[in-house]
Amino acid sequence: MNRQRYTITLTPLAPFHVGAHQVTLNHFDTLDFVPAPVLQAAFARRILESHGAYDLSGRERHYYVEDISEEGCEPQWIPWLKSFSNLSFTAATPFGAECFSPTELGCKYDSSHPIVNSLVYQYRSRSDFRQMREVSCAECGERLERKNGWNLTSGKAVQRRTVSRTSIDAKRHSSADRQLFTMQLAEPFVNSQREPVKLIGDLLVQGDEEMSLELTDEVIRVGKHITVGLGKMRVEVKKAPPKPFPQEQIAKWRAAVGDRSVPVKLNSQLLFAFPGDGGEAHAELSYYHEMYENWLRCTAGFPDGARVVFVSAQHELKRIFQSGTFAKQEQLSRFLQAGSLIVVEPGDACSEEQFFNWLHGLHIGGIRTESYGSTVTIAPHF
Ligand SMILES: [Zn+2]
Repeated sequence: MNRQRYTITLTPLAPFHVGAHQVTLNHFDTLDFVPAPVLQAAFARRILESHGAYDLSGRERHYYVEDISEEGCEPQWIPWLKSFSNLSFTAATPFGAECFSPTELGCKYDSSHPIVNSLVYQYRSRSDFRQMREVSCAECGERLERKNGWNLTSGKAVQRRTVSRTSIDAKRHSSADRQLFTMQLAEPFVNSQREPVKLIGDLLVQGDEEMSLELTDEVIRVGKHITVGLGKMRVEVKKAPPKPFPQEQIAKWRAAVGDRSVPVKLNSQLLFAFPGDGGEAHAELSYYHEMYENWLRCTAGFPDGARVVFVSAQHELKRIFQSGTFAKQEQLSRFLQAGSLIVVEPGDACSEEQFFNWLHGLHIGGIRTESYGSTVTIAPHF
């Protein structure tokens, strides 16, 4: 099986609104990144729009790329159309930033103080948390707190602005009832020098067909309210250059913890579901480790005999909407958040060679669940 990875770079040409939580009935916040399903929908819409025979009217909510053939499609989108079901999108994050892990802690009083990663401490005291050493700020010795959101190493962040709108009653020339709403928009520039925002994600491709999905200078529309001009973005898709396998970092980790384990970090949110998930409420720790083993087996071919020995992860429960099947809206789905860490080891039954073959595959191809995927960082900085 062929595995390829492309980098998707979005440059917003207009403010954008990507739906987050509705704060109150008429106040809408925006996210500062593009989640994988939103990115997938934007590409699907662009492919359909480029298709001469496709009628978009009456299809405001659902886009089915499967409905059309390559005849009548613009040439640059034909490979996309042909391989759409083999594509897994990841989230596109500000300047390609990774999420902080649950083990990364920052100073409670001064954000310029260095970040402490407690993964090694947590891992080494995993069988008895009472042994865990109190970690404090390396600079001032004060307390630490969990870091949230993006690890923006470039220091550039997406800026937001809030706009309020209402309708005018034509007869009274005053505000019409129940028409006032407030919406947060994300700006296309990071600063007053008009330096553009870049949202960077990955496209994981599985399949035997050799075709290029590279794109330059295309425009897609991302997020909500695109008919009023929001969310227009230039898109560039390039084959991702191979990244070196972190052999030294793995050796460093193994030396630090004194066993054969390797930590693996998830970079995009993924559905955490697998056959036989009974959702037991209170169980032994080994039950939860087995849950992660099963999940890795289903999504990433985790080798037999290899084990999950430690997890530091965050889950989110969401009601997902799947086009065409309204019944699915009722069902709560569990997602594993970006930044989650899973520490794995070969165990007794899996050879070191088999284990490393698996790690190499994971390093290149990431993890895929249906049409969404995530790259992984093997032995992340600790
Ligand atoms: Zn400090």
